[in-house]
Amino acid sequence: MILFLTYHRVLPDTARPDPRDVYSVSAAQFGTHLDALAAAGLPPRPPETLRESAGEPAPCCYLSFDDGTRDHLEVVLPALHARNWRAIFFVPTAKLDQPGRLTRAQVRQLAEAGHTIGCHGHEHRRMDTMSPDAMGEQLDTALRILRDVVGGAPWIFAPPGGYLNAALRAAALERGLRVIRTMRWGFNRRLDLTALETVPIHCDTDARAFAAILAGRQPRALYAVKETLKALMPIGVYERLRALAFRLRRHR
Ligand SMILES: [Zn+2]
Repeated sequence: MILFLTYHRVLPDTARPDPRDVYSVSAAQFGTHLDALAAAGLPPRPPETLRESAGEPAPCCYLSFDDGTRDHLEVVLPALHARNWRAIFFVPTAKLDQPGRLTRAQVRQLAEAGHTIGCHGHEHRRMDTMSPDAMGEQLDTALRILRDVVGGAPWIFAPPGGYLNAALRAAALERGLRVIRTMRWGFNRRLDLTALETVPIHCDTDARAFAAILAGRQPRALYAVKETLKALMPIGVYERLRALAFRLRRHR
């Protein structure tokens, strides 16, 4: 069983969180998650062991951080370094060197510290609905830039938004990407390295919710509804509805 956790921003505790940004967690919240992983005897494994871990019945954990934001270097890197843990950073290459995002030099720094840099598309646009040419161009551009920045060929891919279909999977595999992480929630009990399930962490993942994740408990029915809505709606509408749902829940 592979527990693949997906984080987005990890904000310094001094930062004011944007209420619409439901996937951000605070540094303090992140710290409690790392403590819980250590206490549960589930220290995140080095990313390159992912393929070896396939088929192991005992649970093992991997950490990933999406979207190449600056806090990954400023907050996440020191926290992981303190524990000698390593993770996967999925970086959309068109966003490099933009305000609030990692620079090329910072991505190199993450790679040199032993972390894995994964492909997350170039412009961070939904790719499964693109023409084959556009899809290929997004992948080729992203892979070329990542190779230039980190020196090696990326082997892991997280399609933006988690949208994956057979064409995108084939296009990724053709280009040497051997592992693909979706945004489908789950514990990979039936493992498919080309469509890995993940558990997304969000602003409401407090210590109790995190303990439930580690214990393998999460609302499956809710996630099934979420996946269906996400597949049916334009992404902008889905994101707005999701932010609203989080606000309503907090005010309850
Ligand atoms: Zn993303």
